[in-house]
Amino acid sequence: MDDRQQLTQQVLDTVRRFVEREVMPVASRYEHADEYPQPLVERMKELGLFGATIPLEYGGLGLDYSTYSMIVEELCRGWMSLSGVLNTHLMFAYVLGAHGTREQKERYLPAMARGEHRAALCLTEPHAGSDTQRIRTTARRQGDHYVVNGSKMFITNARTATIYSLVVKTDPSADPPHKGISLLAAEKDAPGLTIGRDIDKLGYKGIERGLQQVLSGLEVGRINIASRAVGVAQAAFEDAIRYAQQRTAFGKPICEHQAIQLKLADMATKIEAARLLTRRAAAMKDRGERCDLEAGMAKLFASEACQEVSLEAMRVLGGYGYTKEFRVERYYRDAPLMIIGEGTNEIQRLVIARSLVQRYKI
Ligand SMILES: Cc1cc2nc3c(=O)[nH]c(=O)nc-3n(C[C@H](O)[C@H](O)[C@H](O)COP(=O)(O)OP(=O)(O)OC[C@H]3O[C@@H](n4cnc5c(N)ncnc54)[C@H](O)[C@@H]3O)c2cc1C
Repeated sequence: MDDRQQLTQQVLDTVRRFVEREVMPVASRYEHADEYPQPLVERMKELGLFGATIPLEYGGLGLDYSTYSMIVEELCRGWMSLSGVLNTHLMFAYVLGAHGTREQKERYLPAMARGEHRAALCLTEPHAGSDTQRIRTTARRQGDHYVVNGSKMFITNARTATIYSLVVKTDPSADPPHKGISLLAAEKDAPGLTIGRDIDKLGYKGIERGLQQVLSGLEVGRINIASRAVGVAQAAFEDAIRYAQQRTAFGKPICEHQAIQLKLADMATKIEAARLLTRRAAAMKDRGERCDLEAGMAKLFASEACQEVSLEAMRVLGGYGYTKEFRVERYYRDAPLMIIGEGTNEIQRLVIARSLVQRYKI
């Protein structure tokens, strides 16, 4: 193993230990109380996770996206909401690293790596989610600053963030509209910036809510969501296979009943396929290749697989799976977010099909 591989392995081992010793025992309690897990977030800062993919020269761990994907998977084996704390933060770090000025990078990246500056991505608006070109928030230049007018919705980490990456229209009359869309960074104390009410959700609890550059960040976001889905599905599978060996019915452990065996085999196969798609997209990102198609396929397949696997896990646990005494009810509530977030799977299929037609053009 070279130094780089050793560091990667060390980080993964550390995250796994953190998840098993510190996250798993408390995740359901935080989740059921819908309480922000401040002590766990502080530990994530200490472990350097807020700087996971931020380059070493800016004080981050400088990890590649393959390793980041494995970290997200591990965190989500414990609790999906923890990866939500990192996702848009590291998406913004990526966009800043790829498109920001030297001054912007020096101003934000070191503090972001330490978790002192925390970023949120503000794209969705009350009337426009999938249809991003219809956003109405505008930004007008006035001397050396912009005046932003509009409101955003569903913003993960809105309350804890200190920097907001705002997707705005700088030229509302542009045709096509995406040509007039820009990404601005606003700091928390910007005059006139207010955070509205929190919205209660089915799952993804404990975390508060409130184009070209953006699109390159979305590849990172989709790899994050796909990795989350693999992590949650893996957790559901592990709980199900453990339970299936402990629970007996009709004189034998239920894992010896063929109906349960079929479920376990299908669950594990889907997870492995989802993991391979996700790792492939992450490896392409690491090689600097365009991977919107592969990241989209990974996100689509992994999130649908996660939904199916979490339901199957609940069925393996029978009535107990439907109670809050076991974790599978949480996986089942968390899974749909990955079908909707970071571009719904309907939109994902449209994007995939468009790329395929380009690739197979006659
Ligand atoms: C918990 C949570 C956290 C989130 N965090 C963030 C965040 O941090 N930042 C942020 O900017 N956003 C965030 N979002 C918003 C999220 O990205 C949007 O909800 C998502 O993109 C879908 O948009 P929408 O809800 O407006 O649905 P809509 O766009 O209104 O879609 C409704 C339905 O219509 C379908 N549909 C729409 N257009 C088409 C089409 N052309 N063809 C076929 N079907 C179509 C969709 O697939 C969906 O089934 C978050 C959402 C949730 C629930």
